[in-house]
Amino acid sequence: MSSALISGKEIGQEIRDDLTERIIYLKNQGITPGLAVILVGDNAASKTYVSNKQKTCEALGMNSRLLSFEADLTESELLQTIHSLNQDPSIHGILVQLPLPVHIGESAVLAAIDPAKDVDGFHPISVGKMMLGQETFLPCTPYGVMKLLEFSGIDPAGKHAVVVGRSHIVGKPMGQLLLQKDATVTYAHSKTPNLKEITLQADILVVAVGKTKIITSDYVKNGAVVIDVGMNRDENNRLCGDVDFETVKEKASYITPVPGGVGPMTITMLMANTVQSAENELRQDK
Ligand code: NAP
Repeated sequence: MSSALISGKEIGQEIRDDLTERIIYLKNQGITPGLAVILVGDNAASKTYVSNKQKTCEALGMNSRLLSFEADLTESELLQTIHSLNQDPSIHGILVQLPLPVHIGESAVLAAIDPAKDVDGFHPISVGKMMLGQETFLPCTPYGVMKLLEFSGIDPAGKHAVVVGRSHIVGKPMGQLLLQKDATVTYAHSKTPNLKEITLQADILVVAVGKTKIITSDYVKNGAVVIDVGMNRDENNRLCGDVDFETVKEKASYITPVPGGVGPMTITMLMANTVQSAENELRQDK
């Protein structure tokens, strides 16, 4: 069997087209959604991510503000910056690009962001609300994966979803969102013995590990939906995922490519959360 491709490029574009209309409406009401991105240090990958976020903001007609600091910025200086952004009415979303230099405590920084502007969905209040199934900003990568499934007509209800990886930003929330859509969820991670036995049971397999080709076709059940979150570099320095795409696509019913799968969705859902935050403000003003 050959699989259907789930294109994050196309689905992301569809979502951004809808956002463009919502942004025009907001602007007509006097609100331009604004995203502040904080970058500390000069990590090359972080710089690329930040620049892509800014470009996407601008393409959609949103305001983007980059606050770039040297690596020796102190934690209290960073907290002060966040406090002033929390008070700034032109900013609807605040994002701190991770990782931070080791001398800065990540959890203190994330907890300092006003949950009303926490468009990354990493604040403990946002995480708690997500766990309770309450309305909140969802973390962008798993939120994007849920949109990929939805737009592809794949209903997780009653399916066995296996999530490989349990990071706070991807794996853990991914399983929660699938559970909320009535999937039966299994998590696997680096301490899981016999990974293959688990992944072979998956109707929906989400892989978020960060290791090239950790999932080969012998790990995948015929007809499974395979979502590859991984972003790695192969031996030729080309972007690739965690899944051996060429062989797995022969077994899967649906599969996401890398690049062009989950990646474009993450940035799109960041924009969606920022627009949502601006809409929340408009509702409060009325
Ligand atoms: P992370 O924090 O390093 O977490 C990796 C997870 O994989 C951990 O839970 C780890 O288990 C697990 N793992 C490691 N080796 C394993 C193995 N041999 N078998 C099973 N599980 C194993 O990474 P992350 O931030 O979640 O990111 C994962 C990947 O997604 C990376 O390639 C990252 O670049 C990519 N990513 C992509 C996007 C996007 O927009 N496309 C967004 C975010 C991340 P333990 O918990 O036991 O250590």
